[in-house]
Amino acid sequence: MSGATSLVGVTTLADPQGLDRWRTLPAQQQPSWPDPQALAAVYDTLTQVPPLVQPGECDNLRARLADVARGEAFLLQGGDCAETFAANTADGIRSKVRTLLQMAVVLTYGASVPVVKVGRLAGQYAKPRSTDIEAATGLPSYRGDAVNDLYGERTPDPTRMVRAYANSAATMNFMRAMATDGSADLAAVHDWNTAFVKHSPAGSRYQELATDIERALAFMRACGLDLEATPQTHGVELYSSHEALLLEYERALTRPDESGRPYDTSAHMVWVGERTRDLAGAHVDLLSRLANPIGVKLGPGTSPATAVALCDRLDPALQPGRLTLITRMGAGRVRDVLPGIVAAVEDSRGARSVVWECDPMHGNTTETASGYKTRHFDDVMDEVKGFFEVHAALGSWAGGVHVELTGDDVTECLGGAQQLTDADLAGRYETACDPRLNTSQALELAFLVAEMLQSRRER
Ligand code: PEP
Ligand code: MN
Repeated sequence: MSGATSLVGVTTLADPQGLDRWRTLPAQQQPSWPDPQALAAVYDTLTQVPPLVQPGECDNLRARLADVARGEAFLLQGGDCAETFAANTADGIRSKVRTLLQMAVVLTYGASVPVVKVGRLAGQYAKPRSTDIEAATGLPSYRGDAVNDLYGERTPDPTRMVRAYANSAATMNFMRAMATDGSADLAAVHDWNTAFVKHSPAGSRYQELATDIERALAFMRACGLDLEATPQTHGVELYSSHEALLLEYERALTRPDESGRPYDTSAHMVWVGERTRDLAGAHVDLLSRLANPIGVKLGPGTSPATAVALCDRLDPALQPGRLTLITRMGAGRVRDVLPGIVAAVEDSRGARSVVWECDPMHGNTTETASGYKTRHFDDVMDEVKGFFEVHAALGSWAGGVHVELTGDDVTECLGGAQQLTDADLAGRYETACDPRLNTSQALELAFLVAEMLQSRRER
């Protein structure tokens, strides 16, 4: 696929942008596809399908993220740990989008800051796993619906990547419709508060805030403003993102724009995970060559030098909004480990040259006595607090949060105002992979972040 080809006696490099260079490098976390021919056929199919996003949209997101990097906006990124085909329903998408919109309104209104909204949506179908074989069952590990079936056949099947594409297209289509059909208008702010959240402490706090906003909108209307014709109140800008894990999938959807720059059209933003961010590896190589906004997860084992090296690899041109560093240190480590990383990156590349985003989920995973993988809401909150403290002390901008959430009333993370306990987890534990915040917990987090942002502005 890559390398030199002979064309009428002239040798040309078939891959001048190096988009297939990753094929020569070590690639972590790739499924053991049993049939190379079936994989090649899927790859060819995916090179022919329409893009899910347009290069110009990715550029718009990059411009928004440049505002975040400078400290003039805040990034809210959230959605499932793992989307699934079965849960990819209208209700499921609608409730996730509404939860994100609710959080965004809490942040915008509570902290007077523009919020860039990015879903972990429309493509989050592949998961890295710690073992190839699941200890409890002896079966191949579930690697996301794009690879195998959590409840059925575990042998990786590449045709599932075509289903993942189709499901992503349907989600994207529905998200785009929601963004413009009026249901995401600021005037609908009350409608996003679903019945089961309304009576939770965060839900009723939200209800009060929504009433304030409605009053403000009524005032603006009375002053003669046409809210339907105002982009700030009519519709919403919502972007898609996922972890770029399956290299065949991401490469097949990478297309040049009119000037020849390669965009991964599977999502507006893609990120490289904690387990695949090897500087000499395939994932970093492919992502370094894309024109999209890129994220990289940094866990507590990241040295400051590695963080700087990753920045230099993924954003050599210091392009504003290009790179988001998604730190996921754990509540117990964030205050010790993050300062060195932030200082090294800002010293070597200039202040506010990247987006700093806190993922308070992945460093705080524990297992309960009854065997559930969970996270305690107090730890999630505490990591976010630590993240804000570290950035405030260093003068850098705490630019965003990245959370795993659902629009449903699930019982997957402990604590929160509902005070979920180990005994409650069995009630609605529905995630295909990691435990997600339910809507009440997500809103509670948004109120806390709004307070921290507000106090940062007042300093
Ligand atoms: C994830 O975001 O679901 C994930 C696997 O995260 P990380 O790469 O940070 O472990
Ligand atoms: Mn996860």
